[in-house]
Amino acid sequence: MSVRVRFAPSPTGYLHVGGLRTALYNYLFAKKYNGKLILRIEDTDRSRLVENAMENLIESLEWAGLHFDESPVDEGAYGPYIQSQRLEIYKNHASILIESGHAYYAFDTPEEIDNMRKRLQESNADSKYDRMNMSNQFTLGDDKTKEYLIQDKPYVIRLKIPDELIEFNDIIRGKVVVHGKEIDDQVLLKSDGFPTYHLANVVDDHLMEITHVIRGEEWLPSTPKHIILYNYFGWQIPQFAHLPLLLNKDKSKLSKRQGDVAVEDYKSKGYFRDAFINFIALLGWNPSADKEIYTIDELIESFNLEKVNKSGAVFDMVKLDWMNAHYLRNIESVNILAVQLNEILIKNNIEPTKFNQDYLEKVILLFRERVTFIHEIPSLATYMFSDPNEFDEEYKLKYWKENTGELISELKTDLSNLNNFDHAIVHDEVMKFVESKGIKLKDIIHPIRLIITGRSQGAGMFETMEVLGKDVCLKRFESFINKIN
Ligand code: GLU
Repeated sequence: MSVRVRFAPSPTGYLHVGGLRTALYNYLFAKKYNGKLILRIEDTDRSRLVENAMENLIESLEWAGLHFDESPVDEGAYGPYIQSQRLEIYKNHASILIESGHAYYAFDTPEEIDNMRKRLQESNADSKYDRMNMSNQFTLGDDKTKEYLIQDKPYVIRLKIPDELIEFNDIIRGKVVVHGKEIDDQVLLKSDGFPTYHLANVVDDHLMEITHVIRGEEWLPSTPKHIILYNYFGWQIPQFAHLPLLLNKDKSKLSKRQGDVAVEDYKSKGYFRDAFINFIALLGWNPSADKEIYTIDELIESFNLEKVNKSGAVFDMVKLDWMNAHYLRNIESVNILAVQLNEILIKNNIEPTKFNQDYLEKVILLFRERVTFIHEIPSLATYMFSDPNEFDEEYKLKYWKENTGELISELKTDLSNLNNFDHAIVHDEVMKFVESKGIKLKDIIHPIRLIITGRSQGAGMFETMEVLGKDVCLKRFESFINKIN
């Protein structure tokens, strides 16, 4: 049987990083086994609906490069299946369970439910639905139930949980056993005619022929209810794999309070897609103890659900930044980075037309070892985009000596004779100058840095000069000397 998996988010506003991890593991699993990955929007909880949430979700998934198979309208397209468009299917399945006696009508009003809860709390009993003392098919009998239905009394349909052990196997956690006594008579169909998550989820997983349900650990407590549903319908049970929780550094559950949890935030902060996916993939699984950097193809090839950890995975921002920096340093298509840098310059109101693609590529090569994001380059190296107008006073005090102005003027003349401003040639010229004057390299290199950049630190000085070019460098020498005199 070929593998069919699904990512089934509820559209609650954005794609959570935990959701992305779930989607990614499903994707890796599907790709590894040449299976199909389905996107299904679980939007049956009308109280949690958020406008544009589905579009946001899809946008984030697209950014992440996760491609989905199948669509209800067009085979091979992006999808998704949308549960709110499938209400009849769930209603029909709830009716099947009523017919077979595995589910029942309940007519309790919200007040009756509240009172039941209070009563159970006071008597310290289980806070489960009190099947034998409420207003439902059991206590009313079939005739009264029919009468209520004819009268259009609001009702829900509840699952009749059996009084027995429920067992299933989880690929990551092994055997899980729960007693029916501990499970509530779950509502399957709500009074607004919408199914609950449990009914819609199981019905769809069956109809969509899902072979492996790979989802977050928070759904583990729901799984026994799902097993009961599969058994009542007489359907084959898929395999389950519940992925470990994502944790903050202090081992608490990953929360907004300690950092961003929406994928779109990481996208807008400028993380590379490949770096982010690499990082997310290793939250709870790593095929090798001494390797951290994986291409998507390597991830697919080595993915193994059985090797996913049970214990929570720490979302370590320092590691994420390290990974992003690593990708920045190693990306081969510097031309794409240059396009991005150009956009950043526009946003920063730096006139990008002054700098051609070739120049921007050279600037990136010069500075990418020193930053985590490309957008840090314009502020780290303002002097690559405009002449410096501020000069580090402390630096100047330390290295600008009485005769420095004179030396710089002379050096400027030497440099102006160069036809080639390649860093090695500039270096040789400066070294010649140093020797002929009987000074040390530091006596001249720091003043040069001050003049060219205004700062005490930066990339290699001769490399910086090469990228800026002879004209810009000599102009800066000139205006600094004029200012000093
Ligand atoms: N709709 C659930 C969610 O929002 C899906 C859980 C599952 O995959 O079964 O995560």
